[in-house]
Amino acid sequence: MRVILLGAPGAGKGSIAKLLTQVDGSVQISTGDILRGAAQAGTDLGKKAEAYMKAGDLVPDELIMGIMETRLQEPDCTKGFLLDGFPRTIPQAEALKVLLNKLGIKLDVVANIEVPREEILNRLTTRRTCVNPQCQAIYNVRTQPSKVEGVCDKCGSPIVQRDDETAEAISHRLDTYSQKTAPLIDFYRQEGILLTVSSPSNEAIVNTLMEQIKG
Ligand code: ADP
Ligand code: ZN
Repeated sequence: MRVILLGAPGAGKGSIAKLLTQVDGSVQISTGDILRGAAQAGTDLGKKAEAYMKAGDLVPDELIMGIMETRLQEPDCTKGFLLDGFPRTIPQAEALKVLLNKLGIKLDVVANIEVPREEILNRLTTRRTCVNPQCQAIYNVRTQPSKVEGVCDKCGSPIVQRDDETAEAISHRLDTYSQKTAPLIDFYRQEGILLTVSSPSNEAIVNTLMEQIKG
């Protein structure tokens, strides 16, 4: 399947993408994971992106499009892909449209995941992430703690609160979402491929999406 997951930080894009990969082997592509991995590895891209990310600002569109143009042409994408955290601005959405046309790829659906702001704030302040760039597993101290506090179940690396998950950076990321990313909802509605989903359970969201795609 070829799906864009749209939603505020903390809406569950990453968790839902992971569930969808199990359905048909489509790959999850998270620009946030790619950027965090690059920042930790200290690559050129990572150095350029780091300050923006730490402040909760968006990384410039050119950098993101450079990453995605390469990533979408890698062989594993032929099985399908779940875009998680991309596109995030109207220019990115426009550039993606051109790129997909060029590659002859058609999207199945853009899922707009709606979660109340209160719940979002709650989730983000309690979220913890594995520091291992190859793992980046996500935990939640309230609802999904690791077996040993501060240690990743999957790889044994430390799990920490991200730099951009301070109260200040979170509120800035949510404002950025409203200003820069929420306009994509109308963009994809006009393209005729928007599906708005709101449910407390990620499993229910996955089911709704699958019905839409098969339907
Ligand atoms: P979340 O969805 O929890 O906010 P992500 O992991 O998707 O977090 O992104 C973390 C940070 O990486 C963003 O705050 C931003 O700085 C940068 N980033 C990720 N994807 C993009 C994108 N498509 N365009 C611009 N910046 C991005
Ligand atoms: Zn880990």
